[in-house]
Amino acid sequence: MAKLPRRKCTHKSCRQWFHPMRNGQIVCSYECASAVAKEQTAKTRAKALRVEKKRQREEEKEGRALQAERRQAVKPLSHFIKQAQQVFNEFIRYRDRHLTCVSCDRHHDGQYHAGHFRTTGANPELRFNEDNCHKQCSVCNNHLSGNLTAYRLALIAKIGQARFDVLMGPHELPKWKRDDYIQIRDEYRAKLKELKQQVVA
Ligand SMILES: [Zn+2]
Ligand SMILES: [Zn+2]
Repeated sequence: MAKLPRRKCTHKSCRQWFHPMRNGQIVCSYECASAVAKEQTAKTRAKALRVEKKRQREEEKEGRALQAERRQAVKPLSHFIKQAQQVFNEFIRYRDRHLTCVSCDRHHDGQYHAGHFRTTGANPELRFNEDNCHKQCSVCNNHLSGNLTAYRLALIAKIGQARFDVLMGPHELPKWKRDDYIQIRDEYRAKLKELKQQVVA
């Protein structure tokens, strides 16, 4: 066999020139060969460890997501109704932020509510109707049961007789389910965000 051309040992801390005895020989000696093999083993193990750690992290993450999903799944429907109502009411208060109380026309620094003209108890189908809900002071909302006589007049002045008549007319009760309330919640979150962005712009 013809003599193979000399080459440099690939072991990093050796790098000596040597004459390979066979094809594919890349290290000069048995010592360099075993040193390179050891380094490679260490690298392989480190990589395996990284892969395993990543897998564990992903598993934990999935576990947490699953737990969160389970916690949501066991929540009663009332939880999602309440959530959607909170966001809707926040939207109404923000929409009417520059207005006075819809019933007593009073400006004050205290807490404002979102007051439904037709109550959510008697008319759950109008729970998320924007014509049916307006910024109201806590006195009118809580202590005067909505102060409806004044509310009625102000509401007609605000939305007009035609829309008021539609509001007072019959409404179908939608068969809202969990996902519908979630959708309403998200819709009003988006609407509120949009409204706030319009103010900034
Ligand atoms: Zn060597
Ligand atoms: Zn009031």
